[in-house]
Amino acid sequence: MKYYLTTPIYYVNAAPHIGHAYTTIAADTIKRWKRMQGYDVVLATGTDEHGQKIERAAAAAGKTPQEFTDIISAEFQRQWEILGLGIDRFQRTTAAKHAVQVQDLFHRCLHNGYIYKGNYSGQYCVFDELYVNDAKPGDPCPECGRPTETVSEENYYFKLSAFQQKLLDLYEKQPDFILPESKRNEVLAFVKKGLSDLSISRTTIKWGIPVPNDEKHVFYVWFDALTTYMSAVAGEDMWPADLHLIGKEIVRFHAIYWPAFLMAAGMPLPKRIFAHGWLLFENDKMSKSRGNIVRATPIHKVLGTDALRYFLLREVVFGQDGSFSYDALVGRYNSDLANGWGNLASRTLAMIKQYRAGVIPRSDGDQQIAQSSQEITAIVMESLDRLEFSKALESVWSLIGAVDKYIVEQAPWKLAKGGDAEAERLDEVLYTSAEALRIVTALLAPILPESAAKIWAQLGFTTPIDLVKTADLHWGRLRGNQALGGLATVFPRADVKASIEKMMDLESKEVARQSELLGKKPEPAAAVAPGSPQITIDDFGKVDLRVGIVLDAAAVKGSDKLLHLHVDIGEPAPRSIMAGIAGAYKPEALVGRKVVIVANLAPRKLRGIESQGMIVAASREGDVPVLASFLEDVPIGARLK
Ligand SMILES: [Zn+2]
Repeated sequence: MKYYLTTPIYYVNAAPHIGHAYTTIAADTIKRWKRMQGYDVVLATGTDEHGQKIERAAAAAGKTPQEFTDIISAEFQRQWEILGLGIDRFQRTTAAKHAVQVQDLFHRCLHNGYIYKGNYSGQYCVFDELYVNDAKPGDPCPECGRPTETVSEENYYFKLSAFQQKLLDLYEKQPDFILPESKRNEVLAFVKKGLSDLSISRTTIKWGIPVPNDEKHVFYVWFDALTTYMSAVAGEDMWPADLHLIGKEIVRFHAIYWPAFLMAAGMPLPKRIFAHGWLLFENDKMSKSRGNIVRATPIHKVLGTDALRYFLLREVVFGQDGSFSYDALVGRYNSDLANGWGNLASRTLAMIKQYRAGVIPRSDGDQQIAQSSQEITAIVMESLDRLEFSKALESVWSLIGAVDKYIVEQAPWKLAKGGDAEAERLDEVLYTSAEALRIVTALLAPILPESAAKIWAQLGFTTPIDLVKTADLHWGRLRGNQALGGLATVFPRADVKASIEKMMDLESKEVARQSELLGKKPEPAAAVAPGSPQITIDDFGKVDLRVGIVLDAAAVKGSDKLLHLHVDIGEPAPRSIMAGIAGAYKPEALVGRKVVIVANLAPRKLRGIESQGMIVAASREGDVPVLASFLEDVPIGARLK
């Protein structure tokens, strides 16, 4: 029985962070669970490395695109190794094997009459690699607010319009093709509105896979990236995928384009697409501009990967948005891991060591606990099958709670004083606790593999926990007379303040390391006009330049140049600032952006509104202004010197 699952192919314009780790940890958990059910599992991930954005980022870093993508792709692989994730195939889109697969898919679609040549002329956003169909020259990109470029080019088009009914039939015949239900409904509504044909090649981009027999064209994002799922297992008997695990922002590409491409090529479709929600930071979207992206490795170093895995899969309902915070992370670690599972393990094992010389006694165990254990095991298994990780964990913890209560009620420390008369009862209590601990540990192995392996060894098992199968979850599989392994605390209590400080310190070091890796260097400055008067450093010091974040922005009545912004520069109240940038930016594109403010400019009134400072933007005569911004994360209120 094979089971093939994938994570998205991560784009190498950014170094890996907790968002990438979230999807990959979930995939690793599913892999371990399927393996426990007896499947031969292959988990594939990889990196999406083509496109103009990468070409330009590489140039800015003084590297060739290949050198640049080699570095970032290796950083992703390194990340998964550090976190101990069981990646079986790591597929890069720059691999020759992958190009063959993309070109083959193209040939099949072309041969079946689903590809034709057409023309696009209009606005294009380089940053998002997006045609902005209804924009005029000079308009900003609706996604990111950066100025669009005018392009006119010949493209290959995919006849997506021919697949509307076929896709609707697919969604109806396989109601679980897209999960969760809310995402399925979104996709259904979108497809019902009708589908436009899709441009699948570019002539403006050089860094990509060439279209066969027409090499001035390279394949554009999705035709290239999605096919990675097939190239990762090319030549193996793994396709179709059983599960594509994705973030909700790419559900349309996976649930609409991908099955359409495969239908056009006459190839088998994946069985399921599951879209999980976003991981927010303290309920705020994580983004470069907010400077609140968290990386996984500092958490791994301070609390261990299992602490992160537990938090992400317990705290966030899989499929919905959830929020990360260091406080909540350490809180969960202490209350659930140290005081919950960790405490059950250490007290159970310590009692066996003390009262029975480290050998688990023989007994059938307590019948009530045995029954709860069987019931809870069934719920956990069903929850894991449905990818309801949070519910699965909650159920395991209800068993931990029941056993804790049982131990307190039975008071084995009293039985131990009762001599031979109480020996059989003491055996029963110790066996019951140990058997429940064994089942809890086996159930948690797919989710918290590192800690489960440790507790498994402490219980005295010499075969690795990875070999445990679902049949082993039955009550009574633990035979008596088993000697414990060496005991040690698995989850030492964490000092909240100290561990958060440590993680944040490591986080800033990791940010610096990753920035260097991305080769972020300042671009060469243009020569300053010879006529500019010189100033002293003291003159410059009089200008108080501060980093701020735009809280809101609105058009100003009667002006097509001005926008009215509120900017937080770390003071008690945000600044009201008027800026002549309406020609270049839509107000909504500015919200959440970090900007530079002249903070000590004398206030002045523009159109009756007080402007408490000035926003810094660059422009040449006649050009639209471009806001000063940062490539690295900068805290709000930081002074420019
Ligand atoms: Zn854009």
